[in-house]
Amino acid sequence: MNHERSKKLFQHAKEVIPGGVNSPVRACKSVGRDPVFIDHAEGCMVYDADGNSYIDYVGSWGPMILGHRHPVVVSAIKATLERGTSFGAPTDLEIELAEMVIAAVPSIDTVRFVNSGTEATMSAIRLARGVTGRDLIVKFDGCYHGHADTLLVEAGSGVATLGIPGSPGVPEAFAAQTISIPYNDTESMNRVMAEKGQDVACVIVEPVAGNMGLVPPEEGFLAALREATQKSGSILIFDEVITGFRVSRGGAQDLYDVMPDLTTLGKIIGGGMPVGAYGGRKAIMDQIAPDGPVYQAGTLSGNPLAMAAGIATLTELNKPGVYAELDQKTDHLVKGLKEAAAASGIPVQVDRVGSVLGMFFRDKPVKNMDDAKSCDLDRFTKYYNAMLEKGIYLAPSQFESGFVSTAHREEQIDNTIRTVKAVMEQLAGK
Ligand SMILES: *Cc1c(COP(=O)(O)O)cnc(C)c1O
Repeated sequence: MNHERSKKLFQHAKEVIPGGVNSPVRACKSVGRDPVFIDHAEGCMVYDADGNSYIDYVGSWGPMILGHRHPVVVSAIKATLERGTSFGAPTDLEIELAEMVIAAVPSIDTVRFVNSGTEATMSAIRLARGVTGRDLIVKFDGCYHGHADTLLVEAGSGVATLGIPGSPGVPEAFAAQTISIPYNDTESMNRVMAEKGQDVACVIVEPVAGNMGLVPPEEGFLAALREATQKSGSILIFDEVITGFRVSRGGAQDLYDVMPDLTTLGKIIGGGMPVGAYGGRKAIMDQIAPDGPVYQAGTLSGNPLAMAAGIATLTELNKPGVYAELDQKTDHLVKGLKEAAAASGIPVQVDRVGSVLGMFFRDKPVKNMDDAKSCDLDRFTKYYNAMLEKGIYLAPSQFESGFVSTAHREEQIDNTIRTVKAVMEQLAGK
């Protein structure tokens, strides 16, 4: 594969953009290569600046659950564009998307739209602190909740990929307000909550961890969080920026039947446009300005184009059988990956929750960030590069998840499985 044009673009980008990218993981540093620059995409395919095509399992890091340029989403954006791009005043589209979110996500009574997942978690935490009058927050190692100051402690995703310890620029006094506990460690969580629970404003968690690779919650973990937070009067926040409308229509809370007080959303609900949201019980949400004292605002919040893309996406997802089809396709892929790995003799852990999948180069299951860090990262790098050269576009880090869309057909999934088989054999030296 020729990547000349991508190489040139990256050289140029580095002169004008720090690191050449507007989000760190895109730089592909940890897999020892330059990124490919994308020219366009269609369905489950992305096409780079050199004219190479790839089957896409990144899906813009989750939002593209219908694939790229889904006709219903494209025409909704076009129609809205004809009426204007931003007014800084309310529109009917905001009500429509809010109603769709409320109808689907069981614990949400009212919802506020923002522009990114980072803004959603940051605002939800401010609200939790405002409502409880407490400062401490509890999170879990390897969970990523965006890049707000208090949340960059033991964060997953790019922070884990690049091996950055916390982050310079976050005042120690802020980091000191955050307690981070190993994921799936109910015992440690109970100990911390027994000791400090009365000072804990909120516990925030990815109900299915997707930013240290895919790590599902162990039986009883989420229920234990619910119980401990109820006891201490702390707010439980499910960060469903990945899992919302992904692992099921009602998100992870519906799938595991554990109800948080607040939920953050993003990615899918914007249909590929920049959107985030936070919502929950009305009594808590009413504490936000203008009705309440907790301030949060946004010039472009509830942007009409983003609302239109979100409405179109959720409308498609409302059709019967969509999630069953996604499950079936992802299951097929996961089985194929397991068989390919087994045939090569390379130890891997493959798992999925709905249409999110994860693959770790490790011989034992991954339950937390320490497990994830002990994976064979050199082997992942070789795997990643070989897959890319054979036309499969994966997230460039062992600590990220893969996403299947409704646009992936059997043909492309079978092609992917054949490619994995060939690459695994190559890695095993067979
Ligand atoms: C992506 C992500 C975020 C941050 O969303 P941005 O839109 O990138 O700011 C927050 N939480 C989780 C779980 C995410 O996966």
